[in-house]
Amino acid sequence: MDLKSLIRDIPDFPKPGILFRDVTTLLSDPVGLRYTIDLLAQKCSEIELEVDYIIGMESRGFIFGAPVAYKLGAGFIPVRKKGKLPAAVHAIEYQLEYGIDTLEVHQDALVPGSKVLIVDDLIATGGTAEATAKLVQKIECELVGFGFIIELRDLQGRKHLPDVPIISLVEY
Ligand code: IMP
Repeated sequence: MDLKSLIRDIPDFPKPGILFRDVTTLLSDPVGLRYTIDLLAQKCSEIELEVDYIIGMESRGFIFGAPVAYKLGAGFIPVRKKGKLPAAVHAIEYQLEYGIDTLEVHQDALVPGSKVLIVDDLIATGGTAEATAKLVQKIECELVGFGFIIELRDLQGRKHLPDVPIISLVEY
């Protein structure tokens, strides 16, 4: 199935010069959505037979991560922007193009030593995924891989990530 045909390109969003890859058109396609989740889950299970948790980043990482967790029989852990999670958190600051952002995860979200796979819709510079990998370290879990729907190859995000398998379904 040609997933690219279901992903919409929006020029100059969120600012001039950026070509935004919009997955809402993929999500609204019943066949495309099922195909995407099934394929990502299948490729994730090829990395590691026993994944204990999927970690997904706010907000599109939730949309793709939770159904993949369901399919793998794993738990789902949300990583959120600063101030959204109600219990005690570990936090990590990371660099954006302009300024700094913070991601947080509940301190008691995972059993230490668990096998964890990080899922997001897209990897661009790799900053978000790199920060999430550092959170996995903080909670003393074993990162077994990354799963993305889209990878923007030119930005070389994967070179910032730890040396574990990285899956992407569509490359630009
Ligand atoms: P990175 O940290 O530069 O790798 O950016 C990845 C994060 O930004 C992911 O959480 C994406 O959801 C979001 N993102 C960046 N560019 C796009 C895009 O073109 N389409 C959808 N999401 C994007």
